[in-house]
Amino acid sequence: MQKGSINGTGVSPGLALGPVHIVYAGPSDIPTWTVGRDEVAIEIGRLATALNVAADRLDERRKKVLSSAGAKDAEIFVVHRAILQDPSAMRQVEEAISEHRINAEAAVKMLIDRFEQTMGKLEGNSVRAYASDVSDPWYFVLDVLLEQDRAEVLQTDGQVILAAAQLTPAVMTFVERGRLAAVVAEKGGRFSHGAVLARSFGIPCLVGASNLLARLEQGMQVAVDADRGFVQLSPSDGQVEELLARKTSIEGRRDALRQEAASRARTPDGFELMLLVNIESVRDLETFENEHVDGIGLLRTEFLYLERNSFPSEEEQHRLYRRVLEHLEGMPTTLRLLDIGGDKPLPYFKTPAETNPALGWRGIRITLQWRDLLRVQLRALLRTSVFGDLRVLIPMVTSLDEIAELHEIFQEVRNELAGQGYPVVENLPVGAMIEVPSALLEIDRILEAVDFVSVGTNDLVQYLLAVDRDNPWVSDLYDPLNPAIFRALDQIARAAKRCNKPASVCGDMASDPVLAILLLGLGYDSISVAPQFIPEIKYAVRRTTQAAARAFAEEILSASNSAPVHRAFDRIRNSLYGADETR
Ligand code: PEP
Ligand code: MG
Repeated sequence: MQKGSINGTGVSPGLALGPVHIVYAGPSDIPTWTVGRDEVAIEIGRLATALNVAADRLDERRKKVLSSAGAKDAEIFVVHRAILQDPSAMRQVEEAISEHRINAEAAVKMLIDRFEQTMGKLEGNSVRAYASDVSDPWYFVLDVLLEQDRAEVLQTDGQVILAAAQLTPAVMTFVERGRLAAVVAEKGGRFSHGAVLARSFGIPCLVGASNLLARLEQGMQVAVDADRGFVQLSPSDGQVEELLARKTSIEGRRDALRQEAASRARTPDGFELMLLVNIESVRDLETFENEHVDGIGLLRTEFLYLERNSFPSEEEQHRLYRRVLEHLEGMPTTLRLLDIGGDKPLPYFKTPAETNPALGWRGIRITLQWRDLLRVQLRALLRTSVFGDLRVLIPMVTSLDEIAELHEIFQEVRNELAGQGYPVVENLPVGAMIEVPSALLEIDRILEAVDFVSVGTNDLVQYLLAVDRDNPWVSDLYDPLNPAIFRALDQIARAAKRCNKPASVCGDMASDPVLAILLLGLGYDSISVAPQFIPEIKYAVRRTTQAAARAFAEEILSASNSAPVHRAFDRIRNSLYGADETR
């Protein structure tokens, strides 16, 4: 049995204990785990079942293509089926399972790699096409095995700790969140969308655990400490006891803070910071209580689209948005227009393979081209506007032209709805996300063109520092405490004051209580964070005067490198928490 611990970086706080389940959930790594001697037969059995299911599905496809396109096009499926019956390929996979003691998925992947490496190197298009014909049906088997994998977790009871090669949104939504005790991954950025979801769901999550999958076995008991940054394999009774004791005291502190959190976040000298929440789905409405928050600062509507198999209709969207607005009972509710692309691909909306997706086709760039998509969402939103205090936010704005174009479409949709007799709010506030350097440089003009701005620091940091938020090789360079970031935040806050328009920060850096204090000192009067961070931020705001926050901001802005910034942060953190072990 594997023992010992693996270090990593906590990206969502908390401790957990439970059986591990290794998952494949894109983009490219196949889960590999070791199987015990007595589990070899089980894996070979899984392989045989997957081969049968894959053969049946190929047959179904053949029939469909035969009736829609004819016998010639249907022929390939007959070939694919025959390839899966090749006894030598089957033997190679079985041997890989029993000799290397690996799971069926990993053994099938070995076979595919072998096909591609040998035949893919041969000259000539027809040979390469043959190579792909030989490996394609095995990808099919792989898909079936991976589906089985999900079905297996769903059949079991109790919570699991998911382990993956890379933290992606698909890993976070692999099983319903009630079943998730924690998520651990070999790779993943602190501000990647997978991490954003983990914080939003309130699930402990740790990334950067190298060689994790090679040391885990399916079902192995592990302890995850995302606060201190390690995964303990097969923990001893003493280690379990210690973890549970710490978990209890952290939860005790959280409960006490939650009790205090019902009143607004007011500094001792009377300044009230508006605390809004970021949510990703209607289910998140249960994760906060209305009296504890001042509204929704960011609803990432793309996650409503991600959890489905096809685009939601106008009616479906309208129902969802209406539910959110009614739940908020008149509090400000900011819905962001669809921000797909990049690391948020929709399974049913194929985007081209891009060498640099972060600089590619995403956010408003997609919806301004796919007008129908945008119009359906705008119609649903505008129809909802009469049910509460709705505000609309535009993602990934890079130019004033995009805002002008959006206003035009907005007006057309509004007129269309009025013509159809739908009541709509006339002056629905429209805001722009500031998350791209060009938007920062154009901030004054953008503020004139919209009703409010919200700073998306997850992306702004990535684009200002030229560091991909998803790339583990440069994650150490992704530093929200870089002085350039504070200068950018300062410029935006000043511009908003000059134009007398509201500015908020909805990027995840605002969820750190010390950064929240800094934002307050920079002049932001509202921030938006995942619900679980609200009590901690209220705790910090109630212990810092506005004057002290301003002095802190001045000190940070006068720093010319990151060392004094880190020192000032440590000082404020110490003054708030001292040696409190539960923090
Ligand atoms: C951001 O970029 O900070 C943001 C809030 O948007 P997302 O994380 O969804 O890209
Ligand atoms: Mg963003």
